[in-house]
Amino acid sequence: MTELALSVSDNHQFIWNNIVGLLKEELPKQTFITWFAPLKSLSFENNTLTVGVGCNFNLEWLESHYRDLLNRSACAVIGSGGKIELQICENNQEKSTSKTVQKRRRKDDNLPAITITTSEQTKMKSQLNSNYRFDNFIEGDSNRVARAAAYSIISSLDNKPVYNPLLIHGGSGLGKTHLIQAIGNAIVDSNIDKRFLYVTSEEFTAEFVRAIQSGKVDAFNKLYRSVDVLLIDDVQFFMTRDKTQEAFFHTFNTLYNNGKQLVFSSDRPTSELNKFDKRLLSRLQWGLTIEIQPPELETRMAILKSIAESRNIVLSDEIISIIAENVTDNVRMLQGALTSLFAHQSLLEMPITIDMAREVMNKINIRVSNNIGVETILELTARYLDVKSDMIRSKNRKREIAEARMIAMYLSTELTNSTLKNIGLKFGGRDHSTVLHAKNKIIELINNDDEFKKSIDNIREQIERFNV
Ligand code: ADP
Ligand code: MG
Repeated sequence: MTELALSVSDNHQFIWNNIVGLLKEELPKQTFITWFAPLKSLSFENNTLTVGVGCNFNLEWLESHYRDLLNRSACAVIGSGGKIELQICENNQEKSTSKTVQKRRRKDDNLPAITITTSEQTKMKSQLNSNYRFDNFIEGDSNRVARAAAYSIISSLDNKPVYNPLLIHGGSGLGKTHLIQAIGNAIVDSNIDKRFLYVTSEEFTAEFVRAIQSGKVDAFNKLYRSVDVLLIDDVQFFMTRDKTQEAFFHTFNTLYNNGKQLVFSSDRPTSELNKFDKRLLSRLQWGLTIEIQPPELETRMAILKSIAESRNIVLSDEIISIIAENVTDNVRMLQGALTSLFAHQSLLEMPITIDMAREVMNKINIRVSNNIGVETILELTARYLDVKSDMIRSKNRKREIAEARMIAMYLSTELTNSTLKNIGLKFGGRDHSTVLHAKNKIIELINNDDEFKKSIDNIREQIERFNV
């Protein structure tokens, strides 16, 4: 990788294209389109790629949500010491221009297809991944109720909603996005005269901020309040932005009072949406809340079979069992494991054997347990708990900071081979006994509090996913 970077050190676009390739693999499509597609590579010097961002809001969002990912991608493509620097760039600055120009430019920039000036069904449709459908969503005990609830929405669209709002929650990679997009795809397929909108809460936020900047909040409200079904993915990201919560709250009220259907997903239960405005939280709890659990063995096997079939690859039951027994956490990781296996097969140009499957599974498991660093754990834990990582390293003793610090320390002891002493050093130069105390304290909490244990499991899962 480093050699490659040296020989093309003047070609920043080439480096950026490679980084974009990695980002696309790692991020959900919508997230990529919203935050990364509009970026422009500007220059490459001293191992640092400078990338232009359209406005300050986007720059701050990228820094606070994706700094780790940018760092990792830079190292992967440029080599160790590689960096990406973000910089406001006049050229792709959002300016409020005439309607037509704005529309065209958005299309060119590959920004989210929803604009605040239009709301045709075609635009709504283009937000969806057409692979996310009810008929290819494999059912098992872990997700049956969630699927049934999502499906029931389609059949009751002409009546007053039965479950409103419907909130599907569960760890990452368990099929939440698949299910709520399946509702949109089913509406498109059935050609019924219903308007829906699918957005992630990040896109909702970005659209709202743009609307404020360009003085088009009325148009924003009109669009979001004109639909029959509003599907918002990953509502947990509303946790940090008060004004957006306010906009969401009013949109919610208008639609709800008009008997329109609301469907949300969240990576955690409402009890853990602790930065949510109380009124908003109680609205979310009005309807039906359903959890998707990690898939049990049978479902994992059925999912693997279905993926293999869709790629026209025949796998023996034994090979499917090996994968399903080794990769237990979520469906995204199952897909990743299969992709690794298929990649091995084509690189080695030989059929997939049981030994090959075992070897690939071993590699995946080793990667999870060995490669992860204390810093990454600290950053991801901070992000999950919505505290600043600098605060975790600082001497701040506020309860939520202290707890986040202890959790990150505990996870570092669990997920890395670092010694207590080294972990302490990375947490702002603390003593090994502090780390030991944190570890024992968190173990005690995990043993006595199921809800707490669940959130720790969620964080752990996100960290492991990040690392694969
Ligand atoms: P989440 O939104 O919960 O993080 P996704 O909906 O993005 O998870 O699911 C991750 C991947 O796994 C997607 O490609 C999705 O199609 C697939 N997937 C998840 N659950 C199932 C299932 N029960 N059947 C088939 N594919 C699934
Ligand atoms: Mg999702």
